Amino acid sequence: MNGILYLVATPIGNLEDITLRAIKILKEVDLVVAEDTRQTLKLLNHLNIQKHLISFHRHSTEEKGIEIIEELKLGKNIALVSDAGTPAISDPGEEIVKLALKENIKVIPIPGACALITAIIASGIEATEFTFIGFLPLNKKTRSEKLEEINKSNKTIILYEAPHKLNSTLKDLSGITKNRRIVLARELTKIHEEFIVGTAKELLERMQEPRGEFVIVIEKNTEPKENIFETMTLEEHYKYYETLRNGEKRNNKANCKR
Ligand code: SAM
Repeated sequence: MNGILYLVATPIGNLEDITLRAIKILKEVDLVVAEDTRQTLKLLNHLNIQKHLISFHRHSTEEKGIEIIEELKLGKNIALVSDAGTPAISDPGEEIVKLALKENIKVIPIPGACALITAIIASGIEATEFTFIGFLPLNKKTRSEKLEEINKSNKTIILYEAPHKLNSTLKDLSGITKNRRIVLARELTKIHEEFIVGTAKELLERMQEPRGEFVIVIEKNTEPKENIFETMTLEEHYKYYETLRNGEKRNNKANCKR
C-alpha cells in the first residue's frame, strides 16, 4: 500500500508557531523531505525529533522527485516541509504534490503559518479579495506583463520579495501604483517584526539598505477604469450601441404604456 504525503506547515520565524498536529505528524512519519535540510534540522532539534531527512529544492531534478515518489510507493509516510511556512506556496514542494497526485498517492495538508496570510491580516489593507502573485518574474517581458496586471487590478495584491531585490521592485512599482498604499510586512513573527506603510516612492526613499524578509501588500487600484472604447473592436463597439439602443426602445415602450 502507498504511503501518505503530508504537507506540513512550519514556522516563518517564531518557532512556537507550529501546530500540535504538525508536531505529531513530524514524529510519526518515516522520513522528512526538506528544502534545506540544515534549516529543518534546527526545527527538528528544537522539537526533539530525530528523523531521516532528504532534500528537495529549487535545483533538484525531476529524477529526485521520482525517487521520493518511489519511497511513497514502498509504503513510507513522508512529511514535506519548506524552509519556512506552508509548503508549495512559492517553493518547490508544488512539484512533489503534482507528481504524487499523478500516482494516486494520498496528499494530506497540515496547515499552519504562511507569510502572505500573516502579512495581509495585520496590514490594514482590504483582505476580502486579493491576488497573490508570489515573486515577480525576473524576465523583462513577463515582469512588465505582471506589473501591468498590478496596475489595472481592482484587488489587493500580495508579493514576496528578497531583500536585495526589494528596491528594484519598489522602483518598478512606483511607476504604476502612484498613490496606492503599500505595506511592507518585514520579519514577520520575529523580534524585529514591523509593518512599514507608504507609497512605493516613499518606501523607496525610506528603505536604504533593506534587511530581513519582506511581504509586499499593495492596496487595490481605486482609480476609474480606462476608457473602455479604447480597447473595443469595431464589432464590440457595434454590439455595445445595439444593446444601448434596444434598451432605449424598451424604455420608450414602457413609458408609452404608463
Ligand atoms: N512557503 C512560504 C510561505 O508559506 O509563506 C514562503 C516561501 S518563499 C520561498 C519565501 C518568501 O516568503 C520570502 O522571500 C518572503 O517574501 C516571504 N517570507 C517568509 N517568511 C517571512 C517572514 N518571516 N517575514 C516576511 N516575509 C516572509
